[in-house]
Amino acid sequence: MSYLTLSHLEKTFGANRVVKDFSLDVDKGEFISLLGPSGCGKTTVLRMVAGFEVPTSGAISIAGKEVTRLKPNQRNIGMVFQAYALFPNLTVAQNVGFGLKVQGRPKAEIAARVAEMLALIGLSDLGNRYPFQLSGGQQQRVALARALAPKPQVLLLDEPLSALDAKVRVSLRNEIRAIQRELGITTIFVTHDQEEALSMSDRVVVMHEGIADQVGAPFEIYNRPATRFVASFVGTLNTLEAEVRDAATGRVALGGTEILLHRPLPEGRVTLGLRPEMVRLGQDGLDTGLTGVITDVDFLGAVIRLKADLGGQSLALDMFNSSHMTPPRLGETVVLGLRAADLLVIGA
Ligand code: ADP
Ligand code: MG
Repeated sequence: MSYLTLSHLEKTFGANRVVKDFSLDVDKGEFISLLGPSGCGKTTVLRMVAGFEVPTSGAISIAGKEVTRLKPNQRNIGMVFQAYALFPNLTVAQNVGFGLKVQGRPKAEIAARVAEMLALIGLSDLGNRYPFQLSGGQQQRVALARALAPKPQVLLLDEPLSALDAKVRVSLRNEIRAIQRELGITTIFVTHDQEEALSMSDRVVVMHEGIADQVGAPFEIYNRPATRFVASFVGTLNTLEAEVRDAATGRVALGGTEILLHRPLPEGRVTLGLRPEMVRLGQDGLDTGLTGVITDVDFLGAVIRLKADLGGQSLALDMFNSSHMTPPRLGETVVLGLRAADLLVIGA
């Protein structure tokens, strides 16, 4: 049975329907990301779960108990925000113990729990510091410890890594996930960063204009996007227009050649999606070779992103950097190999 249940949540501000028929079942111990562009309603969903916003309609329950209209302090939820929301005038230890103090727990219990939490985040030595004496990454770890100290039923994280440097962000991703697994705490993580969502989550909810477009494991979201929006928002996607030659078998004309998709298609034209990393230089071992002319060579380090012109349509492809290979030159004519199965049909 689902541990955290959101059913048909709606939130309207004035005439603005910000969250639309949003339903989600989260298992105990699961790590779920809400992924979507700025303004799509992620924070509003989180605030409804926390009790800072009352849904216009719909229901929320945690561990079988309905909490839809309970105040935040009547729910057992921990929350971490993007900006370091630590109390500046309290020490690290006092920040971490804050929730327990509000609950009126005995001093000895608070001290023991604070020590346990500081050990968990690897900051046992810094309990007496003040927030301004910590790095951004350390402050977010303290915010996490503060949220977890009262043993919440659900942990909510609203873009907690967005304000940090790239390197710190990546290491904190792993650290947050390790702590979440160790405690087995049911977690909803909000982000607009697809790499964060894909790398951290058991399941990802891709949101778009207040709607959950797709809910699935990272692999599924990336490889089998359910909508055109998901296909283009998560990862990079080439879109190619093809002419349908045989609708029943899915034979299409693309870039001067014919490809058999083995899928029924509508008559006329279709829009196909293709990830840059699914395309190779040369046709070795692949179903299909398209002919293209290189128009762009972008050296990104580990990867070299090439662009090729296929008779009027542009196709991006990635090659791994290697000492054995020289990238093609601008204007060079190349064969671009791909598998028919990697072509997504994303529109008619
Ligand atoms: P996200 O977190 O995905 O960036 P939000 O949930 O913060 O999106 O906001 C979704 C939409 O709801 C935005 O258009 C935002 O302006 C609007 N919104 C959020 N909170 C309020 C509010 N308290 N009053 C009016 N509009 C709001
Ligand atoms: Mg937000």
